[in-house]
Amino acid sequence: MTDLRLVGVAWSLDHLRWVPTDELTDVVEHDGLCMWAFTGEPPWADEELTDQELAERQCSGCPVRDECLELELRTAGAETVGVWGALPEDERREVHRHWLQRGERAERGPRS
Ligand code: SF4
Repeated sequence: MTDLRLVGVAWSLDHLRWVPTDELTDVVEHDGLCMWAFTGEPPWADEELTDQELAERQCSGCPVRDECLELELRTAGAETVGVWGALPEDERREVHRHWLQRGERAERGPRS
């Protein structure tokens, strides 16, 4: 059954479709919360968390969640693993299926 929430997530990335991948990389590396906020172990390092819970904690308040998700979908695609873009990998793989069907992505392919 299609998760309409995840379809909406895929659609919400349309505004980034013409941003070059290099620019997305720079933005995520510079502004991504997990890139600078946790020096050493994060506060939840000793807790057993599901990927869903980790995504909620790690990515909460990150200002570049859309950029991070777009970048991961472009570069890792269906092979994505771990937590990126505030989503666990199973949800990101589902988003990837819908993302691929959006506009020119359907024509140019997933890794461009
Ligand atoms: S969305 Fe999450 S994984 Fe991506 S840069 Fe922000 S904190 Fe890191």
